[in-house]
Amino acid sequence: MKPRLIVLLALVAFTAALIGAFVGRQLFPGPPVAGVELHEVLHRKLDLDDAQRAHLEILEQSFAVRRKALELELRADNARLAAAIELEHGNGPQVEAAVDQSHRAMGQLQKETLGHIFAMRQILRPDQAKTFDRAVVHALTDDTR
Ligand SMILES: [Zn+2]
Repeated sequence: MKPRLIVLLALVAFTAALIGAFVGRQLFPGPPVAGVELHEVLHRKLDLDDAQRAHLEILEQSFAVRRKALELELRADNARLAAAIELEHGNGPQVEAAVDQSHRAMGQLQKETLGHIFAMRQILRPDQAKTFDRAVVHALTDDTR
């Protein structure tokens, strides 16, 4: 497999894990999951210069707005799902509709998280990109939770 493809697959798996952890926490509140903190780790690992830092700040701001909006959407979806479960006490049509609905926001969050990660990677020098990729892969293969 080409290295780029491996990184892409790793990023997809990573994002799926991230969203799974997020949704899991929404439905079943519990201790924070390691994958959720990886975004911060990635930021800490990068030795950015001032121009990159300024660029990254812009990326972070627009991503934070989108993530917040999608998290609110997911929370509303979860509330609808809870109401449907209360009503139907089983896999009724409203429960199924609520689950489908929540998958739309989840899929969107996944796409936009990936987009953000790729945007972050794009402002890196080749040596930084290598560190970045290693950190993602390491987090994926090492995170057994
Ligand atoms: Zn970021």
